[in-house]
Amino acid sequence: MAEKRRGSWGEGELYDALCLLMIGACCWIIGAQFHAFGTLNHFILAHGLSDQLMLGFFMGLAMIVVSLRKSLKLRLAMRERDATAARAEAVARHDALTGLANRRLFLEAVELSRRATGAEPSSAVLLVDLDRFKPVNDLYGHAAGNAVLCTVAERLDGLLPARGVAARIGGDEFAMLVPLEGGSEALARLAQAVIGSIAAPVLWNGNALRVGATVGIALITGEDVDAEVVLHAADLAMYQGKKDGRGTYRVFKSAMDVELKARAQLESELRAAILNGEIEPFYQPVVSLPEQTLIGVEVLARWRHPTRGLLAPARFISIAEETGLIADLSYRLLRQACIDARDWPAHLQIALNISPQQFQDTWLSERILAILTETGLAPNRLEVEITETALVQDLEAARATLTSLQNLGVRIALDDFGTGYSSLYHLRELKFDKLKIDRSYIDTISMSEERAKLVDAIIKLSASLGLVTTAEGIETNASVDWLATQGCDFGQGYLFGAPMPKSEIDTLVSIDPEVAKSCLAA
Ligand code: C2E
Ligand code: CA
Ligand code: CA
Repeated sequence: MAEKRRGSWGEGELYDALCLLMIGACCWIIGAQFHAFGTLNHFILAHGLSDQLMLGFFMGLAMIVVSLRKSLKLRLAMRERDATAARAEAVARHDALTGLANRRLFLEAVELSRRATGAEPSSAVLLVDLDRFKPVNDLYGHAAGNAVLCTVAERLDGLLPARGVAARIGGDEFAMLVPLEGGSEALARLAQAVIGSIAAPVLWNGNALRVGATVGIALITGEDVDAEVVLHAADLAMYQGKKDGRGTYRVFKSAMDVELKARAQLESELRAAILNGEIEPFYQPVVSLPEQTLIGVEVLARWRHPTRGLLAPARFISIAEETGLIADLSYRLLRQACIDARDWPAHLQIALNISPQQFQDTWLSERILAILTETGLAPNRLEVEITETALVQDLEAARATLTSLQNLGVRIALDDFGTGYSSLYHLRELKFDKLKIDRSYIDTISMSEERAKLVDAIIKLSASLGLVTTAEGIETNASVDWLATQGCDFGQGYLFGAPMPKSEIDTLVSIDPEVAKSCLAA
């Protein structure tokens, strides 16, 4: 649509002008006919002016009125346009849901502050990232999520010092720009207050919704290149806080940048490694007690890195979890393990570790079934190991996944028992097949009577719930004898073998079970 040019005469205005001219002329004619302009007549006669000249004068007057009217209308239109533009600008610079400044406005404010700062910092950015927001959103829906975000915004606004700016800069990410008036102690107090206030429950439709917050702090100095750099530094500090255990705050240090760059490098290498098949399954023997015969293996991931050698899972599993690569990694590992296990005697089981994130996937059992079908491994040869973290995020989703896996014939083991929540509630609520006692307990049974009593209690508890028990991390003959006496069903640990590549486990399973037994305990 062609835009009408401002200031030019449109059709409507020409018509208006003609009307006014006609009215002007008519006024003159009527006035003159009825001698309504006594003084004017007198004036015309006295000055010898003609009717035509006066008509021209009146028409000129009408033209002036027309122009005045037009300029008035123009001015009103411009004022309205400016108001609309200001409204649009305000909308574009504020978050629609919470009314706080948005990322753009926040960056502008940080930039202004940076330019006004010398070498010594005079203000700081607090990046506030919500913890456990996603489960609230998933469980109670978007309306509840929005209520949480609005409440968080109000609480941050309430804590904001004078001349500060609070903003929502992402889905569940907020930020504050604050002057550094009370020094680093005041900043620490503010960060604590932010964490504390966000941790308070949000009441919504009779539910107490709970989220937390991790805060990253970056001080603004004139040496920072731009506002994005400041925000990035706060982000690194926040990330460090998350790593150190959420619900905390961290102040940016330059070492964080180095660490993050190394991590980013590892992340991109991991992405390629999964596709290139550099992640391979290692197998750790699991034996029955007291016989100590091989009954299966636990599948443990190893990264055969082209330059860094063989990397343990501690180096890459958490990165795979955080980047969403874990599912792909895990399914490739399972496929390879199934193929390897097809050559072993049919009574040997394989146990696969499944991350909490994967357990939230409603299609998990279908995906596992597809791999079992494709490779031809019987579902009852597979055991899935999960930790309690997989249960706390969404118990009902976990229950559904657990049941559908068990319906296939796959067994479920609760891993690392004793380290996390160790909740009787989880054991009662969900039907597991096996409990794995964490190696930190097994390490110390010979050293501490208290520990030994605890392990004994766990074994008895497990049996009373109808589960079998595996003790992990068995390194000594003394521990294995004691565990067998207490009724522990299975054992795993360096005493029977460390995680080993396919070639080694192939040898172990191919030899006579009695010989293998002596090899395992050697
Ligand atoms: P986990 O599931 O508890 O696995 C047992 C860990 O204990 C293994 O470490 C194993 O090498 C170690 N271990 C076994 N016996 C002994 C022993 O006698 N003494 C000592 N000190 N350690 C022993 P690894 O292979 O480094 O795995 C570490 C963790 O990484 C695993 O703990 C598991 O949580 C995770 N992980 C490994 N592979 C995968 C995977 O494919 N997917 C997922 N999601 N996690 C995995
Ligand atoms: Ca495990
Ligand atoms: Ca374990």
